[in-house]
Amino acid sequence: MLNLPNFDDVSAAAERIKGYAHRTPVMTSRTVNKELDAEVFFKCENLQRMGAFKFRGAFNALSRFNEEQRRAGVVTFSSGNHAQAIALSASLLGMPATIVMPHDAPASKVAATKGYGGNVVIYDRYKDDREQIGRDLAQKHGLTLIPPYDHPDVIAGQGTAAKELFEEVGQLDAFFVSLGGGGLLSGSALATRALAPHCKLYGVEPEAGNDGQQSFRSGSIVHIETPKTIADGAQTQHLGNYTFPIIQRDVDDILTVTDEQLVECMRFFASRMKLVVEPTGCLGFAAARNMKAELSGKRVGVLISGGNVDLDRFCSLLLT
Ligand SMILES: *Cc1c(COP(=O)(O)O)cnc(C)c1O
Repeated sequence: MLNLPNFDDVSAAAERIKGYAHRTPVMTSRTVNKELDAEVFFKCENLQRMGAFKFRGAFNALSRFNEEQRRAGVVTFSSGNHAQAIALSASLLGMPATIVMPHDAPASKVAATKGYGGNVVIYDRYKDDREQIGRDLAQKHGLTLIPPYDHPDVIAGQGTAAKELFEEVGQLDAFFVSLGGGGLLSGSALATRALAPHCKLYGVEPEAGNDGQQSFRSGSIVHIETPKTIADGAQTQHLGNYTFPIIQRDVDDILTVTDEQLVECMRFFASRMKLVVEPTGCLGFAAARNMKAELSGKRVGVLISGGNVDLDRFCSLLLT
């Protein structure tokens, strides 16, 4: 049996990240409240350090390293927000970080990761197995591997955003959270069940990659091919061994939205709320809009998970 993290772990993570992670703002919009005939609270993790909630989990995991682990450093495989979160956390804690990235990762992501002090190791997406490279590096140099979502300290750290939201706004009737591999959703679930036990909690995936919904409804982890969607932070192929049982136990349902709906939300956030939100960061709001009828008169939370999108890509998405 795995030792699943609980709300005490989320509270401990909140203490560890204090003074390092931003306590992100909760924003409201009269336009949104009118559209949904509800009171909607947006937790703005697009304004978190390095642009996404992932800093919370990465920093929490790295701050638990012992002296020997710190000296050798951390390794991870990711081309996305987790890479930058690990690189930044490691530099703040004064330890080396090795990030295994594909040869065709966007130059801006490689540059950002290097900019935070990360040591980037490039692999060939078509020939090499990135997890094997990560494990080999860990083994050879004594590095500690921190995966992007399936780790108790990562889950506990991600849960601190929802904890802050409930502490700030009080009880909610429904809460919508982006879902990839489930680190954010399972952490949010621990906070929700502890602080707002009656709140309906929904995970939201892109329609093209609904492995989480299939897993939730079938009762076991379903694996899929890398889905084709603009929500690059949710292109995961399966939930994790830690994240799935928590989601199964504490989440009310998993919903899906289309890429077109994500673009509509990006446009809305930019034009009405002056927020730059990446496609994956729009999952929660897109699902809330689809549930308009049920949400009338309710207090609703939406977690905006990230804002890292190249400006060129942002513009071209809005023009489609
Ligand atoms: C990683 C990520 C997600 C998905 O998080 P999981 O913990 O993998 O479910 C959602 N949104 C953004 C912006 C992300 O970077």
